[in-house]
Amino acid sequence: MERRAIAISGTVQGVGFRPFVYGLASQLELCGFVRNQTDGVRIEVEGDGSRLDQFLLQLSANKPPLARIERVSWEPRPPLGDSRFRIETSASSVTGPVLIPPDIATCDDCLRELFDPHDRRYRYPFLNCTNCGPRLTIVESAPYDRERTTMSSFTMCPACRAEYENPIDRRFHAQPIACPACGPRLALKDGAEKPLEGGDALARFADVLRGGGVGALKGLGGYHLACDATNDAAVVGLRRRKQREEKPFAVMVSDIDSARALCEIDEAERDLLCSPRRPIVLLRKRMGSPLGPGVAPGNPRLGLMLPYTPLHHLLLREMDGRPLVMTSGNRCDEPISVGEPDVYERLAGIADVYLTHDRPIHVRCDDSVTRVVGGIESPLRRSRGYAPQPVRLPLHCLTQGLAVGGQLKATFGLARDDQAILSHHLGDLDNYEAYRAFERDVALFEQTFDVRPTWIAHDLHPDYASTRYALRRAGRENLKAIAVQHHHAHMASCLAEHGLTCPVIGVCFDGTGFGTDGAVWGGEFLVGDLEGFRRAAHLRYVPMPGGEKAVREPWRMALAHCHDSGAQSTPFLHRVDAASARTAHRMIERRFNAPSTSSIGRLFDAVASLVGLRDHVTFEGQAAMELEWLATGVLQDGAYAFDIAAPGESSAGEEAALIVDTRPLIRDVVRDVGRGVAGASIARRFHSTIVEIIVKVCAKLRAQTGLSQVVLSGGVFMNSLLLCETEHALNAAGFLALRHRTVPANDGGLSLGQLAVAARQLELR
Ligand code: ZN
Ligand code: ZN
Ligand code: FE
Repeated sequence: MERRAIAISGTVQGVGFRPFVYGLASQLELCGFVRNQTDGVRIEVEGDGSRLDQFLLQLSANKPPLARIERVSWEPRPPLGDSRFRIETSASSVTGPVLIPPDIATCDDCLRELFDPHDRRYRYPFLNCTNCGPRLTIVESAPYDRERTTMSSFTMCPACRAEYENPIDRRFHAQPIACPACGPRLALKDGAEKPLEGGDALARFADVLRGGGVGALKGLGGYHLACDATNDAAVVGLRRRKQREEKPFAVMVSDIDSARALCEIDEAERDLLCSPRRPIVLLRKRMGSPLGPGVAPGNPRLGLMLPYTPLHHLLLREMDGRPLVMTSGNRCDEPISVGEPDVYERLAGIADVYLTHDRPIHVRCDDSVTRVVGGIESPLRRSRGYAPQPVRLPLHCLTQGLAVGGQLKATFGLARDDQAILSHHLGDLDNYEAYRAFERDVALFEQTFDVRPTWIAHDLHPDYASTRYALRRAGRENLKAIAVQHHHAHMASCLAEHGLTCPVIGVCFDGTGFGTDGAVWGGEFLVGDLEGFRRAAHLRYVPMPGGEKAVREPWRMALAHCHDSGAQSTPFLHRVDAASARTAHRMIERRFNAPSTSSIGRLFDAVASLVGLRDHVTFEGQAAMELEWLATGVLQDGAYAFDIAAPGESSAGEEAALIVDTRPLIRDVVRDVGRGVAGASIARRFHSTIVEIIVKVCAKLRAQTGLSQVVLSGGVFMNSLLLCETEHALNAAGFLALRHRTVPANDGGLSLGQLAVAARQLELR
């Protein structure tokens, strides 16, 4: 007979861990107890030694789906001769920093109940248990229990209360527990907020969608706008009403078989689609799919997701197998709507009917977007189902801190010990609504996760709303403000998720980031680590005529690059209004309203315009994305010329940055366009050229520094053709290429990088 005291830390509270331990102990006929404590779960078990070994083994191997074990330790204790195993309820003084799990898709047990006519929750749209249901989106404050969630106004009925209090029930301490007798209810309303009484709300809503209408549907983290994805008139109508011209819509299908009817799906993609996180997964469209062309115009990929709430499951059943467009409930680039009555105002003229309910959403949380590149997950947006699950930092923070991220695709993060608690996606902070949510959610996270920052890390850009927030708050609360250069943060985020602190070569390719010289950086090769960096190489500067306007109008970058390279012709100019072209030309010559940029995103734009693909974009990164599609599937066919200029030593005695001269490349492209070479071939060669540039520059930097680990970060690496080939070419040249798997390569990953840099700099101070 032996007794062991076991301590487990991680996400082990509020996820059905204690009932699981109870079941395991009973099964192995062990005695003792389990209870929650501030930093996790404490177990004491007593019994035969080999069974205790079994117990420890199965504890980790068979843990509940939502539990995340960080650490398990145990020590022997003298046996006490307990006669049974019990769950000890926590002392009320236990209010440690409990990790709140992300919102999780309806589990299989709940799904069975949902469609079981004999179950008391048959067809109840809000059923959930400790293994599934809303979490982050309903939290109002800490610690995480029912009184501090948006479920507090619902009083449990005796049947729910009994389940909630029964340690071996699947709903033991499931905070959002509910049933038709005591929980939230559905309501169908028209655009004037008038309830549409009579009949089944869900069936009537589905009727509207089947008839080609647009419905607003209250989900986990906000409202979706839904319509029949096979009805192109409905899809096009939704685009017009939402003022979303071309950006692809996501589609929800009832199950994996319906997903396969629309897209090619491999093993890894299936796992992601079906995972309890239920992200939108970008997949290759199948030829001849029944979807209207308006769903994702011109796009070889389609974003699919499976139902993740009981309401979705019920709705999809009503649609007789028809897939639904499910796009965030907003107009244009505003943040997703979450609450009444505001939703009726914001979606006026878009939605014909509203399927809503009385469980408030506290934290606005968009769907996550991900995909598989080369067999590995490559996230595009880390939000619902992922946040606020912490990411392990490669160092232990001496003090707690906050990183406020960037401006677009904003996220923020908190650092505590060795953990980065990263927020959901907050959108574009230029938008006032999004900014307000940012401020409020920062406060909520600090309170909920019990983090009191002593420092705030922010981007170097003085005009980001997040930077202004950081500086204002640092001044007011006497916190240390730590500015982190944009591309350094990109590099650090990739280092951090790979658990590295060592020096590497960072290839940081994106659209825009504020440089230490005030220029717009974006085609950067950094050498450094978490602490600091040297700008070892970058693309040659060209002017951006019209500043921000050049981002929306790729022809302006084509003009700048042609002017810079002395190209023989300007094949796009006949498509552009003459007065605008003259003005842009003057801006370039006089360097007026034409900031210098080394951005590779803008180089993609220029080439997209040169090949006649697109002179204006309606969303960020559109031209580059279309250039990728154009090149995809074309066989490799050589590359264009470029130069790498080495200006010698700089005054400080340090190696001066190498300059990647893209002028030969532009001249070649213009010549090919003039000869009538197909755009697809030009796009293909352009991609190969970028890969060659990366490998050549990295080889020079390896010769300088001896470093052979290369991290690939920045939004341009959302381009899977470029990512795959770069990774392959680097590895073939003897480098070790590392890319993002946990946070996005785009600006959504900046907060993690900022946390890692700031924590490291403070550690060394
Ligand atoms: Zn469940
Ligand atoms: Zn109930
Ligand atoms: Fe960036």
